[in-house]
Amino acid sequence: MRGQMMVMPLTIHSLIDHGARYHGDTEIVSVETDGSKTRTTWKGVSDRARRLSSALAKLGLFKGDRVATIAWNNARHLECYFGISCGGMVCHTINPRLFHEQLVYIINHAEDRVIFFDKTFLPIVEGIMGKLTTVDTFVLMSARDEAAASKIPGLVFYEDFLATGEANVDWVDVDESDASSLCYTSGTTGSPKGVLYSHRSTVLHSLGAALPDMLNISAREVMMPVVPMFHVNAWGVPYTAAMVGAKLVLPGPGLDGDSLSRLIDAEGVTMALGVPTIWQSLLASLEKLGSKAETLTRTVVGGSACPPSMIAEFRDKYGTEVVHAWGMTETSPLGTANALLERHMGMSPEQQAKIRESQGRPPYGVELKIVDDDGEALPEDGKAQGNLRIRGHWVVESYFGADPGTTLEADGWFETGDVASIDADGFMTIRDRSKDIIKSGGEWISTVELEGIAVAHPGIADAAAIAAKHEKWDERPVLVAVKAPGATVTEQEVIDFFAEKVAKWQIPDTVVFVAALPRNATGKVIKSKLREEFGNVLLTF
Ligand code: ADP
Repeated sequence: MRGQMMVMPLTIHSLIDHGARYHGDTEIVSVETDGSKTRTTWKGVSDRARRLSSALAKLGLFKGDRVATIAWNNARHLECYFGISCGGMVCHTINPRLFHEQLVYIINHAEDRVIFFDKTFLPIVEGIMGKLTTVDTFVLMSARDEAAASKIPGLVFYEDFLATGEANVDWVDVDESDASSLCYTSGTTGSPKGVLYSHRSTVLHSLGAALPDMLNISAREVMMPVVPMFHVNAWGVPYTAAMVGAKLVLPGPGLDGDSLSRLIDAEGVTMALGVPTIWQSLLASLEKLGSKAETLTRTVVGGSACPPSMIAEFRDKYGTEVVHAWGMTETSPLGTANALLERHMGMSPEQQAKIRESQGRPPYGVELKIVDDDGEALPEDGKAQGNLRIRGHWVVESYFGADPGTTLEADGWFETGDVASIDADGFMTIRDRSKDIIKSGGEWISTVELEGIAVAHPGIADAAAIAAKHEKWDERPVLVAVKAPGATVTEQEVIDFFAEKVAKWQIPDTVVFVAALPRNATGKVIKSKLREEFGNVLLTF
């Protein structure tokens, strides 16, 4: 038909160009590896990212080549995000908390040509460089450092590297469906798998994330992503912030509660994003330092279930709203976020608080369903629990390098590995990972629910519920708990605390106290390890 609209490619170039042109003087605050604070702007990031893209091209890299980063949340990392992708290359962010063998595997699998890394990670790079088959350039993201140079032959320094690039070069043209960035899952089961995001999926994810019922991000926001830029692109915050022109506060290596709390007050952070364990230590620090976190209106919590007691503490003590969100590496990651509907507005604060505990609803662009083990759809009545499947504009179709047709289910949806229920309004509640749920006498018990109750006990700092083998019921819940500092809580007190909160048959049989819970590279409790250690405590033979 004649007479149509323009077609503009949905590329990451358009995000940074918008940020630089319309929010050019909006600040980016960055805590560097040595703890110092630096300031730049969206225009500054864009200018240096251009130089970076040009320097990479001069180095002989081509469109589609993978360029890795092992770095904290800081301004240089942000420059890499845009410089690499807008130079037509793929920004492969690497999680330094992975084991050395996993790092070697993913770098070789991705065929990275260059690695940019922060000084903190020099020992890692030194330890694995001999086993890397495709990397020919290592760039230290700091000033010249002779000690580092002596450890890595041919080491390049970031500012020197940037100086080799031209100022004001044009970005490299790409198609919106071209790959822009790459992130590997932490591979709790089997080898890590690569998820390759495209320019288009990134732009659509950014639009979805900014929506009022998702993260509700505007140019008036001061955003602090505590969630690392080395895992799932810090939940897409760098891109969304460029799109709306929000101020960014990048906390660098200072992820302890005290540092975060000071940064919030000093920079007037309005919203912060991270996993529940980060907020646990922040809450403790706010209390200790006597901060009221005046400016902090919202925290976005995801990655693991947010305990209801944490939502209440933020609300009641600091007036901070918790937005509970769910997602995974394979979904860019935002799949759902919790916001009330119009019909909830007349409800009591208690009723509203209850609704806000779940992981929430999908935005435009994402669909969810729950299915039984035969793949048949289950009712969305808030009661039925099943395998959660997802599809959408920013959901993986095929893992990087995988044979076509091996990633999705026969119905074309992605199986998340989570067990969930969905209510009639579309609110989704994660009950468990399918491999962690407790099957007691044919009934399912949600470890997420048990953990949410346990950590509400003032004597408990951290808790994980696991399935322990049982002669009569096959499996029964056992709670592995970490006491709060100085607490003297007993096993019986913890068990009594569950009374009236869950059905009697769901109450843990026993509580094992430990000093700390084992966590993986993305901060999730390694339940397989706990099952190995405590899975037989109920057996009598
Ligand atoms: P990995 O790389 O280990 O897959 P992801 O960060 O992709 O790590 O983790 C995705 C998983 O994290 C989800 O499948 C789900 O089990 C869990 N998860 C994420 N957000 C939440 C949440 N809000 N509540 C409960 N579980 C969550």
